[in-house]
Amino acid sequence: MPKPGAESPPLMDKLVSLCKRRGFIFQSSEIYGGTGSVWDYGPLGVELKNNIKRAWWRDNVRLRADMVGLDASIIMHPAVWKASGHIDHFTDPMVDCRECKRRFRADKVDETPWTHYCPATKGNKFEIPAGEPCRHCQARRTLCPECGRGELTAPRQFNLMFRTFMGAVEEDASVTYLRPETAQGIFVNFDNVLQSMRLKLPFGIAQIGKAFRNEITPGNFIFRTREFEQMEIEYFVNPNDTIDGRPADEVMHDRWIQDRLAWYTRYGMRPENLRLREHEKDELAHYAKRTADIEYKFPIGWSELEGIANRTDFDLKQHAQASGKALTYFDDERKAHVVPYVIEPSAGADRSVLAFLVDAYREEEVRGEKRVVLRLHRELAPVKVAVLPLLKKRADIVSRAHEIRARLARDWVTVYDDTAAIGRLYRRQDEVGTPYCVTVDVRTVGDTDKGEAADGRVTIRERDSMEQIRVPVADLPHVFQQLLGDVSWAQVAAAYPPAEN
Ligand code: ATP
Repeated sequence: MPKPGAESPPLMDKLVSLCKRRGFIFQSSEIYGGTGSVWDYGPLGVELKNNIKRAWWRDNVRLRADMVGLDASIIMHPAVWKASGHIDHFTDPMVDCRECKRRFRADKVDETPWTHYCPATKGNKFEIPAGEPCRHCQARRTLCPECGRGELTAPRQFNLMFRTFMGAVEEDASVTYLRPETAQGIFVNFDNVLQSMRLKLPFGIAQIGKAFRNEITPGNFIFRTREFEQMEIEYFVNPNDTIDGRPADEVMHDRWIQDRLAWYTRYGMRPENLRLREHEKDELAHYAKRTADIEYKFPIGWSELEGIANRTDFDLKQHAQASGKALTYFDDERKAHVVPYVIEPSAGADRSVLAFLVDAYREEEVRGEKRVVLRLHRELAPVKVAVLPLLKKRADIVSRAHEIRARLARDWVTVYDDTAAIGRLYRRQDEVGTPYCVTVDVRTVGDTDKGEAADGRVTIRERDSMEQIRVPVADLPHVFQQLLGDVSWAQVAAAYPPAEN
């Protein structure tokens, strides 16, 4: 927390620091100096990311009768990437600085702040915000944004796929790739899934898994990394079908866009931080009929969180042609084979983690003190309940707290903490987004020396309102079933007496 009057660091810096300090996300290989292009999820980060993936899988696969799952391998036959177009076209335009040798994506070079030695101020050095001209000489960036001195080369195409070798011999014939997207594993398994599951159009196949891209300029924490996870759906539609007079693929595309936007808000993202961006005609991939991105207002500005494309029949046709295997669906009604069209909602698990963290992060003033709180949705919060003893010197209080933790841990991620005074413990749980704290105090266990009877109740404190209620220990499993299910705090709290703060 900055001192009063001190300038507060940018939100992204605060998040990176919170994530490291509280065990969400660490820089990969940090003891060797780290790398800015891949990150490791710590004890709380892995829970948060798993919760996001679990919610996505439940809502998009388990709860839908028209969806099934898949887990394809990362290393696939190299012919897949030729047919998909990745070997020839999965490139970004790259420019190099002739002085400092740094590399940049030509199309993103004006999206970073730039260094400028201003001739109007005797060559003084300035850091100028992305895309803006110098305030003194009005010049716009032409040189390297990093060193401010070198000329940039003309753009050349750089393939983003990681190449490796399969088997013991490193020769051209054994070259293979780490998948740059999970989607192709779905397309090449289209017929396996269709036949084994006896599916009827429209249906979708979903997959969550790692993808690898040798990004030219990774950065902005987990926003753009070289190893990341995708949550992808390929939703196959009969191109001859219509719904209310419109082509079914177009209607389904609209529905997926609405579903996916609603999904983010269902888990607490503020609608004002989400928007839809339609791809312009000249931006569309040649095979795409329409693409819309769900963008989130990240601290770096509005950026893609998920892309939702109508890829037509391009992928299935490409793989059918290259493999010689038919990838069609038999339309019983029309007695004809058709190549389905596909709608592809493609989300990043790591970008979702970042967006949910950004959205949940608040600095609040409570009784003259600042608190940092992650207002994460209860389903996403890494820890659901923290059990805290009010006095750690009292063995009976501590052992009751351990008993309660052990009971609740059967159903929910529950932690025990006695490493500070209660106020500090609450702040720590607020900072990692724990929705409920249970405090065991003297009244819970009683005090025989003072002749005070045990009331067998504990205090439950709710993170956002900081309200507290006294609940019998025996009620806790039921109460948390409600609170961590669909019953509101207000409804549950109405059945119990408040606890004084
Ligand atoms: P961008 O324009 O940001 O490079 P993209 O359009 O190439 O993204 P897609 O190929 O549509 O991305 O991938 C789908 C999703 O996968 C993205 O919306 C994003 O959430 C995630 N994603 C893509 N590349 C990365 C990356 N390098 N690091 C983290 N997530 C990524």
